Amino acid sequence: MKIAILPGDGIGPEIVAEAVKVLRALALPLEMETAPVGGAAYEAAGHPLPEATLRLAQQADAVLFGAVGDWKFDTLPRPLRPEQAILGLRQALGLFANFRPAICYPQLTHASSLKPELVAGLDILIIRELTGDIYFGQPRGRRSAPDGAFAGAEEAFDTMRYSRPEIERIARVAFEAARQRRGKVTSVDKANVLETFQFWKDIVTEVHRDYPDVELEHMYVDNAAMQLVKAPKKFDVVVTGNMFGDILSDEAAMLTGSIGMLPSASLNERGQGLYEPSHGSAPDIAGKGIANPLATILSAAMMLRFSLQQPEAAERIEAAVQKVLADGLRTADIASEGCTIVGTAAMGDAVVRALR
Ligand code: NAD
Repeated sequence: MKIAILPGDGIGPEIVAEAVKVLRALALPLEMETAPVGGAAYEAAGHPLPEATLRLAQQADAVLFGAVGDWKFDTLPRPLRPEQAILGLRQALGLFANFRPAICYPQLTHASSLKPELVAGLDILIIRELTGDIYFGQPRGRRSAPDGAFAGAEEAFDTMRYSRPEIERIARVAFEAARQRRGKVTSVDKANVLETFQFWKDIVTEVHRDYPDVELEHMYVDNAAMQLVKAPKKFDVVVTGNMFGDILSDEAAMLTGSIGMLPSASLNERGQGLYEPSHGSAPDIAGKGIANPLATILSAAMMLRFSLQQPEAAERIEAAVQKVLADGLRTADIASEGCTIVGTAAMGDAVVRALR
């Protein structure tokens, strides 16, 4: 089992080191190779996604990714910015399904800005389509002008599009995921206004015929945004397009109140995947040894489950994280009264001890 380790920038190297520590403690035959990505790669090799890094990712069964980005790269031309590495990897690996679980651990219900009874025991999965939608339509307003040059323009527009195969495959992924969970899919659209999303709704309904054991509901995106803060536990799997998924997955993440805890996965049709925490590179705390490594450690668990077919190892990691939290250990971002505050490395060590 070959894993490409891409730590990236900011807190990326610190949190990825802890996830690697946990993976090594499993004593599985894992072959791990590290390569630079993002701003670190730009500084080392002049490009955020060097050829060698891309090749390593393509040849691996899975990629464990830290985070990229730092304010110091904000003045670079867009194609050389660290964030381009993620887009490049998504495209080169054909990653089309983004899984963002939002889980509220019983020990952390106080971290949510919602009332504890609304979020206690929350466990929802947002599945965002990654390859279509308005992000990949024709940005025709920009076509005739160089990047960013809109001076004097009278209008700008982007086009929203989805193809039948793109909707069918993401719908199947959602129904399959629901089968492993509580058996309910909410498909989020804006079919009352947008043709693209009436098409989406019709196709999801068609694909559903193959999954009679799964409950399907359709919901408009504005209502979904409201329901997520009103009664989030009503959801199980939420499937939606690229733009709505971008927004709703961040909203769902915030229900848990602890961005440092949330893993994510992006998968292609062969089950190859890129696994990363939902948060960014947190340049404000980089190098201080205080970043929470749990989102990255839980991303490694998702990797074992979805790309490496090691569900038991994944469960062992998830149980170890629960135990560490139950023992009262916290990094500063999730600290509460009566808990023991530890740094990044100590948190990783505690998960390894709990594993053993
Ligand atoms: P961020 O997620 O990096 O940080 C937001 C806040 O959360 C900060 O206060 C940070 O200290 C805190 N935080 C984040 N992760 C934490 C952790 N593991 N432990 C403790 N605290 C944590 O978002 P931002 O500040 O908007 O962006 C910073 C940089 O990250 C930018 O350059 C941005 O482009 C980049 N970014 C990268 C990714 C990615 O690599 N996938 C995603 C989002 C943002």
